[in-house]
Amino acid sequence: MLANKCYIKKEDKVKVIAGKDKGKIGKVLKVNRKKSRILVEKINIVKRHSRPSQQNRQGGIIEKEMPIQWSNVMVMCNKCVTPARIHMQQLEDGNKVRICAKCGESLDT
Ligand SMILES: [Zn+2]
Repeated sequence: MLANKCYIKKEDKVKVIAGKDKGKIGKVLKVNRKKSRILVEKINIVKRHSRPSQQNRQGGIIEKEMPIQWSNVMVMCNKCVTPARIHMQQLEDGNKVRICAKCGESLDT
């Protein structure tokens, strides 16, 4: 997949369409365009056992999100409330916005 095919931005709401968290919806926390990976809130949680330390004397389990492939998610359209196919539209001022292919609503407002 080409890097410029990624329409996902930080703060987007996305739905996971593949993998162990399939069907879940979360907010994009980070986008790594070079690695084609995104970090999504509460998706792909990995539990790690931590040893007791100065900050955490008891140790315990730490839950942490791990990045997933952006091809495994779809951006949600707020209007359709479903995963949207995204079209790019160029505005008169030259800026490009993402449009939901289904309802025509802009995802960048
Ligand atoms: Zn829509």
